[in-house]
Amino acid sequence: PVRPARRPEWLKVRAPQGETYEFVLRLMRSKRLHTVCEEARCPNIGECWGHGTATFMILGDVCTRSCRFCAVRTGRPLSIDWDEPNRVAEAVRAMGLSHVVITSVNRDELPDGGATLFAMTIRRIRERVPGCTVEVLTPDFKGSIEALRIVIEARPDIFNHNVETVPRLFKKVQPQDRYEWAMATLSNAKKLWPECVTKSGIMVGLGETWEEIIEVMKDLRAVGVDILTIGQYLQPSRNHLPVERFYRPEEFEALKRIGYELGFRWVESGPLVRSSYRAEAQARALSRV
Ligand code: SF4
Ligand code: SF4
Repeated sequence: PVRPARRPEWLKVRAPQGETYEFVLRLMRSKRLHTVCEEARCPNIGECWGHGTATFMILGDVCTRSCRFCAVRTGRPLSIDWDEPNRVAEAVRAMGLSHVVITSVNRDELPDGGATLFAMTIRRIRERVPGCTVEVLTPDFKGSIEALRIVIEARPDIFNHNVETVPRLFKKVQPQDRYEWAMATLSNAKKLWPECVTKSGIMVGLGETWEEIIEVMKDLRAVGVDILTIGQYLQPSRNHLPVERFYRPEEFEALKRIGYELGFRWVESGPLVRSSYRAEAQARALSRV
């Protein structure tokens, strides 16, 4: 329960550096690819890239939505680049990854919300890098089961959609999103493919109460979500929502315990936890593909 002007000690991270980091950076530039690690200014970039892990962002770097916590640009997106799945697969191979996370901006202007490019990317990685597990972190497709079906039929090892915050704060935090869409997406993934390993995540520190966090966790369990990530919200710039509260490491531990009591099969909860943090370990433990 602290709200200091500066980040507490447990949120300080080293600036990214090193040979592997430089190699990944050059690879992304040469293949004209985007990573959410960079776009979202993720605090784990030094650690993840240092270990050769990355989260690719397909469908461009311009989003049709404008969530108040997110550093991705909003505007009119570029046309679809149908060769992108090939370049992602090549980069995954060049990096020697054994687990990859694929995510995207929202593309609400497209009839399928970009689902086809997700499915193509999963398939290209499977073809070129056999043995590499694939996690997708998709938009909500406005709750559309048809769009979701396209992604699920490509059989991702882990299907992830982040609810991000509690229902009361949706209007303030992500005004174009709806809590029902997020829940429908996660529930439909299991309906379409009961074996599917599903995952979701929330950020804390945006003004939610402890009870509201627990309610969201229960809702996620009610739609069968297997993996949960909980991390501290950090303000990407002064134009984004301020941090209302820095949770202490012990509070993240408490949330982790509650998560396991509620029946999640895996819970990552900590100040610097992000959606794809330790995703590889989760895939190793839970993936059925
Ligand atoms: Fe990238 Fe995810 Fe690691 Fe952040 S936690 S650096 S987004 S792979
Ligand atoms: Fe950022 Fe995703 Fe919101 Fe777009 S939909 S602004 S990429 S969080």
